[in-house]
Amino acid sequence: MNYKNKKVSFRVLGCRLNQSEVASLKNQFAHRGYRVVGSDDVADITIINSCAVTTQAEAKTRAEITAAAKVSPKGKIILTGCYAQEKKADLLNLKNVHMVIGNLEKTRLVEFVENMDQWANKAEVADVNDPRLVQSHDYYTFSQDSIAETDRTRAFVKIQDGCNYFCTYCIIPFLRGRVRSRKSDEILQEVMALEQKGYKEIVLSGINIGTYKQDEDFDLTALLRSLLENTSTTRFRLSSIEPNLITGEMIMLMKVSTRLCNYFHIPLQHGSDKILKLMNRKYNLDDFAEVITKIRRAIPNIAIGTDAIVGFPGEDEEDFQGMYDFIQKYEFPFLHIFRYSKRDGTKAAKMPHQVRDIDKKNRSAKLRKLGDQLQENYIKKFLNKELDVLFESPSGGNSDNFVYVKVNSDKDLTNEMKKVKITKVFKSQAEGVIIE
Ligand code: SF4
Repeated sequence: MNYKNKKVSFRVLGCRLNQSEVASLKNQFAHRGYRVVGSDDVADITIINSCAVTTQAEAKTRAEITAAAKVSPKGKIILTGCYAQEKKADLLNLKNVHMVIGNLEKTRLVEFVENMDQWANKAEVADVNDPRLVQSHDYYTFSQDSIAETDRTRAFVKIQDGCNYFCTYCIIPFLRGRVRSRKSDEILQEVMALEQKGYKEIVLSGINIGTYKQDEDFDLTALLRSLLENTSTTRFRLSSIEPNLITGEMIMLMKVSTRLCNYFHIPLQHGSDKILKLMNRKYNLDDFAEVITKIRRAIPNIAIGTDAIVGFPGEDEEDFQGMYDFIQKYEFPFLHIFRYSKRDGTKAAKMPHQVRDIDKKNRSAKLRKLGDQLQENYIKKFLNKELDVLFESPSGGNSDNFVYVKVNSDKDLTNEMKKVKITKVFKSQAEGVIIE
């Protein structure tokens, strides 16, 4: 059966890397003659790029399968991504799921769809120990068809995949494989193509982007330099980066460059050295504090976001209070809170002293309240100050330090970069007037 000219829709869960992959897949399908439709439209084929980072993410993936089957009862569902990699057998048993494609094979998804009948009710999922997922190499080749284009002003470009850190709570290294970096010229071509298409912000994405290394002398800072030198209008944003991988050079580049967003997302994960050790994180609280202090000394108004896991095995009230105090002391304006959830196959799943759900719930509620307050305090610092805002909608957008700003405008400002003076602050967002 010829699947060309068929309607294909996409659903995506989880991280920015998944979003970037879906953006690229949409483009590939469109170039091959498929009609890409929205997730609420009836489609012949629905592709779901799934997530398995927590049990909630898995539940959301299953909910997306149900929703896709409801929207397109006669359509075929193809699952890919981390949940597909993890639970291929279970997923193939679900009604409407036609095929399951692993993380490695994702780049050849169009081919699989084109030979869909022969793949009915089958999974093509390479083992995570497959040499192609273990060795550092570049399996991803740039083509105009695979640009990670979105319908917004911000694009996500994949620079690396995989992780070698094996934090004891995390399933990702078992599902995405070992660290491998894309070649810088491939990344540059994609970035230049996106700039030409009018994208004004590019988020460099991956699983552990600080490990980016094309070779011994070409690391993430070298990549950033090369991207800044070879482009002229786009601003760049780093996605989450591990604290031990932030270098002085990188901080200095951010300080001097007007096109590298003053924003770091540095996952703390916990505020107790005991728990950090159990988590197999690569730093203690003193190391973390040192990095934050160094960054803030160089770039005083920078926004630093972080992640916190609540209810890791062994976390008692004192450990939790330690985390609360640390976050309060270092005033992280953007706080992502995760409740620990057991992932089979990880070390933490077998650890004693698992925390009760009710404690996780209460502790995360307490942290959420703190997070809201810290965000408001941070945004208030910009009252009567000017910020560079990239408009993502007719009258709202984000500054480079991630303050969401609304303005009153008769004109549709989407995809325009404007200097805005902040005049009011409402909790998580600001209001301002355009001054340029
Ligand atoms: S650094 Fe740790 S949490 Fe992040 S992907 Fe690697 S193992 Fe998972």
